Order: sequence, then C-alpha cells, then structure tokens
Amino acid sequence: MSTATRPQMTYLTAALDDLRSKHRYFRLRVLEGEQKPLATFDGKEVVNLSSNNYLGLTTHRALRKAALEATRSLGVGSGAVRTIAGTMKIHMDLEEQIARFKGTEACVVFQSGFAANAGTVSAILGKEDLIISDELNHASIIDGCRLSKANIKVFAHKDMKDCERICQETVNWPGKKLLITDGVFSMDGDIAPLPQLCDLAEKYNCIMMVDDAHSSGVLGRGGRGTVDHHNCHGRVDIQVGTLSKAVGALGGYVCGTRDLIEFLYHRARPFLFSTSHPPSVAATCQAAFSLLDSPAGEKLIRKLWANTKFFKRRLKKLGFNTGISESPITPIMVGEAAKAFEFSRRLFDEGVLAVALGYPTVAEGKARIRTIVTATHRRQELERALETLARVGKALGII
Ligand SMILES: *Cc1c(COP(=O)(O)O)cnc(C)c1O
Repeated sequence: MSTATRPQMTYLTAALDDLRSKHRYFRLRVLEGEQKPLATFDGKEVVNLSSNNYLGLTTHRALRKAALEATRSLGVGSGAVRTIAGTMKIHMDLEEQIARFKGTEACVVFQSGFAANAGTVSAILGKEDLIISDELNHASIIDGCRLSKANIKVFAHKDMKDCERICQETVNWPGKKLLITDGVFSMDGDIAPLPQLCDLAEKYNCIMMVDDAHSSGVLGRGGRGTVDHHNCHGRVDIQVGTLSKAVGALGGYVCGTRDLIEFLYHRARPFLFSTSHPPSVAATCQAAFSLLDSPAGEKLIRKLWANTKFFKRRLKKLGFNTGISESPITPIMVGEAAKAFEFSRRLFDEGVLAVALGYPTVAEGKARIRTIVTATHRRQELERALETLARVGKALGII
C-alpha cells in the first residue's frame, strides 16, 4: 500500500502508542446534523453538554438567513488577505459594529479567537518586554507570548498577591509590560478578578489585556463581556473576543484604540498573511451582534443564566463537586484521569455528551468532565442529563 508508514515516520506511531498507554488517546466524535442541545454524534442521540454554543446561535434563523443572503450577493470567499485585496465592505461594517457594541474606538476581526490572541500578543511585544500571565490562561495566549519572545512570568491562578510580587520584582523593567488574563477561564468556569488586575496594571504601568472568549455573549449587558460586567470601562487597553462561541459562527476580534487597531493592521501576522472571512461569516456575525443588542438577545442571555443556575443547583444537590465555577461552564471534578474518561464514556453510552479533561489540559489529579448548558436546552433535556449523571456517577462511586 502506498500509505504504509515509512521508517522516518514511525516515531509518530510510537507517540500514539504512548498516548494510548496513558489513557490520553482519543477519537474524534462526529456530529451528524446540526450543533444543537439534542444532537447526534457517531450515530447516537445525546444531550449535548459540550458545545460553546451558549445562546443557540449556530442554528438561529436570522443568522442562517444573513449567511445565505451574503453568499448569494457576495459569493463564498474573499479571495485575498485583508492587506492585499481581501477587505470587503462587510468586514469593515462588522468591525465598526463590534467597536460600537463594546464601546471602544475601533476593532479588528481575525480568522479565529486563537489567531486574535496569538497575533496580537506577538505583534505588540518584543524580546525586551515582559508579560505577566495567569497560569490558567488559554493556549492561544501562551502561544502568543512565546511567539513574541518576551520574558514571561506566570502568577498563580487569580492570586493577586503573587501577581503583585511579580510586579514588584520587575518594577524597574526597562521594556513594556503586559498584564494578561482570560475573562472567564475555560476549564474551571471561574471569572478573573478584573478590577484588582486593573489596579495592579495601573499601579505598575502595564498594558492590560483580557480575553473574553467565554464571556462575550454571556457576561455584561447584552453579553458585552467582563469589562462591562465588572464596570472596568476605560481600564482595559486590549479586549479580545471570539465569534466562534456565543456568537455562533467563527472568528476572533480585538477592540481598543484606533492606534492599536491600525498597528495590528501593519504587524499582526494572521491579519497580514491569512485570508479574511467569507462574506457569509461576516454577515452571520453582524446578525448575531444585532440580536445581542435587542430584547430577543437579552432574553436568550437570561435563559442561559436561568439554565445555568438550575443545572448547577441540581448537580450540587446530587453531591457532585462542581469546583469554583461562576459561569455556564460547570466542571464535575473526578480526580483521576482514567476515571474521568470512563465517566465520560459511560455517559455517552447512556445518552449524554460531556467531555473528560485530564492532564495536560488540566493539572494532574484534577481530571474532570466539563459540562456547558446553553440558552436553548429545554428543562426536560437537562432533567434527562441530570438523571443520567446521577446514575452513572453513583455506579462509578463519584457521588
Ligand atoms: C476558545 C477560546 C479561544 C479561541 O477562540 P476560537 O475562536 O475558537 O479560535 C481563545 N481564548 C479562550 C479563553 C478560549 O476559550
């Protein structure tokens, strides 16, 4: 066979065997049909507790219509990177709309939230600079930090004393300083202490940056994110958000001053060297932000939080350890990775999709399954999931 493994590639086979032996090997679950609260993966219908589709916008009628209309009138692709010939009017309109929504001077959209973080951090800092970063910040922030070649100092998760210790030790740092945090942390669902971080950034002259991937469309008025939630307007220099989670489509954005955005036009490598979104994606996002800014959007956010509170309360009542979550992301702590994976596998067999997370995604000994409810889960779906969680959790001795 022409695809037989040649000797120079066998190290990959060995690496996969190693993953298997450590219970870190996985297969991709394949979604058949739409991304919805009740969904079919690998031919099995399950209550879906694993999507970031917080407001159910992946299948929303108004967004679908906007995508189809944009495809009809503008085609399926932009044909170039933004700086060559790939800036369409619809891209500029979306950026203006997001900037207005967030109350900032300007906005630039990237191909993904990952590209927004990695592209921005690596563009604004160089090897003479310093980054002060929460230990649980997202991989895209970590990669951006590494790409920048700046010095990286990591503080213990949300530990303001540890953060200030680093600030003090580097008080005479000759280069620029960046203090960076997730707004909502993706593994524990807890919220960053943004006002205190802003205090430190101001006291020690740091650029302040927050990644609101899990808070856009979830926290703040109309889902404006953690800056609005904490009333930190004017104190955060760089706000990143994603268009791939609550917004329901794909992409990432950076909001800030006009100078920041124009600088990124000139220096952010994903912006310069990777093709811009198809018109359908931009149109979908425009429709999403219009919805967020309307009573219908507010209603969806209220529903998201009502479902979140209901689900958390019931999990606790069942005796599950749900950690320190304050958002729709609710982990169920298990401890041992092998057991978390077993829990997830048995849940799937019984009709509930909740992924297991083990080392290195989370710390060793803190393996868990992660659940995310959305605005569009019906109570009977959540009841069904809770009943299954209780049954399997008891069988495995988790509760
Ligand atoms: C999901 C996520 C991203 C990446 O966003 P994409 O649009 O999916 O690339 C960035 N940061 C955090 C904290 C995330 O959870």
